[in-house]
Amino acid sequence: RRETLLYLNGVNKTFDGFKAINNLSLVLERGEMRAIIGPNGAGKTTMMDIITGKTRPDAGEVYFRGEVDLTKHDEPAIASMGIGRKFQKPTVFESHTVEDNLALSLSGSRSVLTALLHKKSAADAGKIDEILATTRLTDKRKRLASGLSHGQKQWLEIGMLLAQDPELLLVDEPVAGMTDAETEETARLLRDIAQKHSVIVVEHDMHFVRELGVKVTCLHEGSVLSEGSIDHVSRDPRVIEVYLGR
Ligand code: ADP
Repeated sequence: RRETLLYLNGVNKTFDGFKAINNLSLVLERGEMRAIIGPNGAGKTTMMDIITGKTRPDAGEVYFRGEVDLTKHDEPAIASMGIGRKFQKPTVFESHTVEDNLALSLSGSRSVLTALLHKKSAADAGKIDEILATTRLTDKRKRLASGLSHGQKQWLEIGMLLAQDPELLLVDEPVAGMTDAETEETARLLRDIAQKHSVIVVEHDMHFVRELGVKVTCLHEGSVLSEGSIDHVSRDPRVIEVYLGR
């Protein structure tokens, strides 16, 4: 039986009298990848903000590894516990090469000099090679990040997160703006990552969510509306109503 990695229980968040998160509960197992869907305003971003400590809920608990209540910790503390987040817009260092971007993340420093020293250490060189392979960027390692396609920049940013070796990765709309080929490759890439990490992916693209082939949670009005396989969720009359009945 798998262990619970993340457990949200009775989480509530109100903004100016509007309930963005309404008694939300969610269980993510260690090693699981989960897709979160739901119409605009469903509370997906607020949920991610609460997990990462960017937003403090009004009520409820968020347990990580069974013991730590994340709602008692701030953003830097939560990041250092092994929760990494990738926002929709990639923020790579455009004027550095792909491998130097990874070296910078590995070193946890903004100094290129420090990063260069890290790149030279055997352990980090091996780690960089591994991340380049995972993110499909091995043959782009010497390129400037500015020369990458939009999709490749997204992969590089996922690689920069992997350099920090988070146990849980939160990924926000990774395939927005990608070509069909990049979208399909991203599904494979995330499945590879999920062999070693737990992942939560927020995504609108249903074709992509289907390709991920993982359990889906559909949020609506800050609560779980439907949960299960993509076939179960996409045929759920309540889900069809919130997507089409508006
Ligand atoms: P989603 O990511 O699913 O589109 P959000 O979590 O962004 O949904 O938003 C849920 C609801 O909470 C929306 O109605 C949004 O307007 C509201 N909301 C989110 N953040 C804030 C904020 N900082 N202040 C006021 N309202 C907010």
